[in-house]
Amino acid sequence: MKDSEVRSWVTGLGLPGLVDIHVHFMPESVLRKVWAYFDNARDNYGVDWPIHYRFDEDERLRLLRSFGVTRFAPLVYPHKPGMAEWLNEWIRDFAARTPDAVPTATLFPEPETESYVAKALDAGARCVKAHVQIGGYDPRASELDNAWGLIAEAGVPAVVHCGHGPLRGAFTGLDVFAEVLRRHPTLTAVLAHAGMPEFDAAFDLVSRYPNVYVDTTMVGVDFGTPQPDFLPRMVHFPDRVVLGTDFPNIPYEYAHQLEVIAKWAEDERLGPDFLRAVLHDTPAQLLGIADDTDRR
Ligand SMILES: [Zn+2]
Repeated sequence: MKDSEVRSWVTGLGLPGLVDIHVHFMPESVLRKVWAYFDNARDNYGVDWPIHYRFDEDERLRLLRSFGVTRFAPLVYPHKPGMAEWLNEWIRDFAARTPDAVPTATLFPEPETESYVAKALDAGARCVKAHVQIGGYDPRASELDNAWGLIAEAGVPAVVHCGHGPLRGAFTGLDVFAEVLRRHPTLTAVLAHAGMPEFDAAFDLVSRYPNVYVDTTMVGVDFGTPQPDFLPRMVHFPDRVVLGTDFPNIPYEYAHQLEVIAKWAEDERLGPDFLRAVLHDTPAQLLGIADDTDRR
C-alpha cells in the first residue's frame, strides 16, 4: 500500500476515519533538535533514519488528513526539567487551533509536576505522554507519584515509552514501569511501541491490568533490527491494541504501518472487527472522542 491509497482503503473498510494515538507535533525549535538527532541516527541508533515527512507544520497536517486521519493525539515530551509546563502550554495552543488534534500534556519529575499536570487535566488534556528513555528519569520518582494518581483518577490515557527499544535508558524496562502500575492499578496506560522489544512483558501487563493497552507504533515494520513475533500474544487481546505511528518522524511511508496491521488482521482469529477496533474504536474510546469522531 502507498500513502496515496490509504484514504480509499480506510473508506473501503467502512471506517469513519483513522484515530492515531501516537503522532508528534512540537514547537519548531524542539522539532529541529529531534530531527537533528535522527540525522545522526547512525551514531545514536546504529542505523540511518531518514525522516520521511520533513515538512512544515501545515504540510504535515495536510498529509495526515489526506490519509483519512480524523483525530490524533499530538505528543510532546521533555528531555530536561523546566520544559514540560512550557510544552503543555504550546500543545494546548496547538490543539486549540487544530480541531482534529486532541489536547495532550506531558510530565517530568520536578517539584511542579503535580500542579502543572492538574492544570493540564483541568484544561481538558485527554492524553499524557511520558518518555522514560529520552527523559532519562525514573517513572517511580516520588515527584511523579501524585501526578500518576491524578491521571488515573481522570481516566486519561498515559502513552508511556518505557521499553528498551530503540535505545535503553537509565530507567527503561517494563519491570520498572510495572512498579508504577502496582501503585496505580487503575491507571490507563498505553505502552508505546507495545513495550518493544519486550512484547511478552507488555502483554503480561495487559493481562494483569484491565486498563493497560499497547500502541502499534513501529511494531512489525520493515526497519531496524528484527523484532520478536507480535501476533501470538496479541491475538488474545485484540481490543487492547491501538493505532500509533510516530508520524512524522518515521523512515518509511505512513501506509507501511497500516499494511502491517492489515496483515495481522488476516489471521482468522482477528479479521475486520480487529481492524475497526485498532484503527478507530479503541483509540477513540481511550481519547474520549468515541461519540464525536464521526461528526467530522
Ligand atoms: Zn513517539
